[in-house]
Amino acid sequence: MHDFKYKKNKFYCENIKVEDLAKRFKTPLYVYSYHTLTDHYLKLKAAFAGINPLICYSVKANSNLSILKALIAKGAGLDIVSGGELFRAQKAGCPAQKIVYASVGKTDQEISAAINKGILFFNVESLAELKNINRIAKALNKVTRVAIRINPDVEAKTHKYISTGKITNKFGIDLESAYKILLLRNNFKNLRICGLHIHIGSQITQSEPFVEAIKKVSNFIRRLKDKGIELEYLNIGGGLGIIYDREDPQTAQIYADQIVPLLQKTGLKIIMEPGRFIIGNAGILVVKVLYIKKTPKKKFIIIDGGMNDLIRPALYSAYHNIWPLAKISATEKADVVGPICESGDFLAKERLIAKVKEGDYLAVMSAGAYGFSMSSNYNSRPRAAEVMVFKNKAVVIRKRETAQDLIHNEIIAGNFIKG
Ligand SMILES: *Cc1c(COP(=O)(O)O)cnc(C)c1O
Repeated sequence: MHDFKYKKNKFYCENIKVEDLAKRFKTPLYVYSYHTLTDHYLKLKAAFAGINPLICYSVKANSNLSILKALIAKGAGLDIVSGGELFRAQKAGCPAQKIVYASVGKTDQEISAAINKGILFFNVESLAELKNINRIAKALNKVTRVAIRINPDVEAKTHKYISTGKITNKFGIDLESAYKILLLRNNFKNLRICGLHIHIGSQITQSEPFVEAIKKVSNFIRRLKDKGIELEYLNIGGGLGIIYDREDPQTAQIYADQIVPLLQKTGLKIIMEPGRFIIGNAGILVVKVLYIKKTPKKKFIIIDGGMNDLIRPALYSAYHNIWPLAKISATEKADVVGPICESGDFLAKERLIAKVKEGDYLAVMSAGAYGFSMSSNYNSRPRAAEVMVFKNKAVVIRKRETAQDLIHNEIIAGNFIKG
């Protein structure tokens, strides 16, 4: 459920007419609903109330400080994947003890920073990384907590670019290697291996892959126990799918009903890392129609937002609903494309869509997750502004970039450039 809907043919976010936001803040514009955002977090929390997990929102889905702050204020922790995200987590006021850190390629600098801040634990993705964290912790004279990220080798039944739990993916450590590492845990004097982590992919709409992965690690946990290896945490990752088009994903409650009994049996403290489930349908991208272009074969709706603003259609062939801000009953088939000099720059192809004209506004739905956070300056396009709606108030949570921002770090090598 979300708070974006038509009232008397005008499209609203909570109690604000989105057209007014488009006129006031210009386009392309990301618009988020505070209510939807926090409601999704609270729904998940309620569904899992029986086991009281630490819900660490996945920062990479959308890392805006106001979004992080809104979730932290409700009790969320954060799942980070870089030093930059650690910086954001601190700026947003997240307690270090609620931060978990995954990534196959953590640098020494990033590891040191996270150890010094005292994060809850690292999710470690290789033996080489484990050794490195141990070495750095030793140099810092600290003992740091780590969880082993397990690659459970399950099919997540999602797009291949967002599947992470097959043994051919770069993520995590296979069960047998993890077992050997755990037997040798005392060799890592500056580490405390306190848990296991799994994250098998994203936009997973059924419960089975989760259940399969959790069963595999549960058996593994039992096997470890038999060897006298006790753990404290099980981090089950994120990956919950949402509705973009006609998906029928499990609700938070169905997901909980399926896995809570399994999780309870482990006796461990549970951590979850949802990203898309929380922010995906809490945000839209608002764009303006620049031109309508008819060619002998096609009709193009050319808009002022492109693949630099929302890359998901180009990257994953992702589907996003596109609705006019002022309802139009007539429809036509068209491609919705951006201004970027790439044929991959489209938001929809051969789509039956409202018959819009130049100057009309469109809402690209379900753009809250992996929208702004994946946006770029390609074609020297300043990144969009972001606005959060609180009932009948709208607040800018990121200013639109300017052309000056684009060249901020550039230096003209004047001494060497000769005519
Ligand atoms: C990306 C990521 C998540 C969040 O995935 P969603 O599909 O957005 O829920 C969680 N954990 C890890 C380790 C990730 O890399």
